[in-house]
Amino acid sequence: DIDYIYESLMNTAVDIDSLEADSHLDEVWIKEVIKMAGMKLKWSKLKQEKVRENKDAVKRPQADPALLTPRFPVVTIMGHVDHGKTTLLDKLRKTQVAAMEAGGITQHIGAFLVSLPSGEKITFLDTPGHAAFSAMRARGAQVTDIVILVVAADDGVMKQTVESIQHAKDAQVSSSALFLTLSLSVPIVLAINKCDKPEADPEKVKKELLAYDVVCEDYGGDVQAVHVSALTGDNMMALAEATVALAEMLELKADPTGPVEGTVIESFTDKGRGPVTTAIIQRGTLRKGSILVAGKSWAKVRLMFDENGKTINEAYPSMPVGIVGWRDLPSAGDEILEVESEPRARQVVDWRKYEQEQEKNKESLKLIEEKRKEHQEAHRKAREKYGTLHWKERSLIKYKEKKQQQPLKLKERVERESNVLPIIIKGDVDGSVEALLDIMDTYDASHECELELVHFGVGDISENDVNLAETFHGVIYGFNVNAANVIQQSAAKKGVKIKLHKIIYRLIEDLQEELSSRLPCNV
Ligand code: GDP
Repeated sequence: DIDYIYESLMNTAVDIDSLEADSHLDEVWIKEVIKMAGMKLKWSKLKQEKVRENKDAVKRPQADPALLTPRFPVVTIMGHVDHGKTTLLDKLRKTQVAAMEAGGITQHIGAFLVSLPSGEKITFLDTPGHAAFSAMRARGAQVTDIVILVVAADDGVMKQTVESIQHAKDAQVSSSALFLTLSLSVPIVLAINKCDKPEADPEKVKKELLAYDVVCEDYGGDVQAVHVSALTGDNMMALAEATVALAEMLELKADPTGPVEGTVIESFTDKGRGPVTTAIIQRGTLRKGSILVAGKSWAKVRLMFDENGKTINEAYPSMPVGIVGWRDLPSAGDEILEVESEPRARQVVDWRKYEQEQEKNKESLKLIEEKRKEHQEAHRKAREKYGTLHWKERSLIKYKEKKQQQPLKLKERVERESNVLPIIIKGDVDGSVEALLDIMDTYDASHECELELVHFGVGDISENDVNLAETFHGVIYGFNVNAANVIQQSAAKKGVKIKLHKIIYRLIEDLQEELSSRLPCNV
């Protein structure tokens, strides 16, 4: 039955109840093994065959071009530290809030939408810097259409300016093959900031950027450069318009029909509303009641809101939206996919968790494989030696053998030789005591320190066990049994160690430690 357990573990999930009750390895042990192998008991309850065909949520195939409709751009602001990214974002956001009649309370949701007087719209991701950008890229998420590169006109091109350019250039490498032939990079709009400063030198910035293949229009390239001041708000509209102009050239489109696809921008826990995410919708239209999965979480959309905290009923491609209704917190960069039902969402999430645990427990599986070999060997040897003899009879045989080899009384040997470890074994049932004796058999011969079984049996630790242990300076090992308080106290008074375990291999490990601590030579 050991084989049965292990095989089951390796291949599929185990239904604990179906395992034989009189297994050599008790249920606690089996559960532990299952845990180590990363098997979720819950998973075994799912209909495996059904899931195996269709275990994860997947993206739909590319949309029929006829279904595509124009969408507005999603923009990330990047640049060197202190060059004005935050100030620029604040100014852009405030322009918008001021333009709105009921300027609600601005909420930081990781992205916001700006509507221009012309009716055009831009979504800005407001996690400046490339940390967030790289985190998303590492997950293969591609939400940004345009990068606004901020360079301070007094400072010029700096280290993180160059890194930002690099990020923008690499950005689409992992993206859809369709775009590979067109471009490998996210196009840039250059915002030369701090132009209000007397020492500002925008021309120097443009010249410096030539070295990094960012060629402004003045130099015959296609990068639009806008001279701005985030501090005074000067030329903000020109920057927005340059962005819109670029977006028009890109002919950004998306399919607003069918199940939703999107990307998590931020996630946080709100005291009242629980786990909340901000997402950019990339396909389909999100509505209340939609069932979503993202990472290892799922949601039934209870509420959607915009960056002003206003409830919204629908979110289209390119729109940033706050989503309430998640069971757990997904991570930034996680792909959001709509599924058809709650049971399906649970199935997908369970599958993903299971897969992750499998990954995490590859090491544990190795350990289990070792233990399995060890235990099989122990059983084999014991069978060879004792056949079908009951453990009580065979222990008697063993005892007699020992007696012949070691005529000296155990008590005397213990007192004379330090490398003898007298032990008392108590187990809850016949099977567990037998399994322990089998395993101990293999240690008997191979160790310098000798295990001396003083007594063994089924049942809780008794006063008699404690007395025996005291007499022989032994240690009591209990597997799945108890020691009453009075017994524990008595043992403590007599200086007797009682070690209780519920997992066989832990008990064996403990025993090995005890053995090595008694080895005579400590170099
Ligand atoms: P970030 O690190 O790129 O987000 O830069 P911040 O937005 O925090 O700006 C850094 C500093 O530069 C702050 O003290 C800003 O007030 C200042 N700053 C930002 N934009 C301008 C600008 O257009 N003109 C001037 N004079 N100072 C600016």
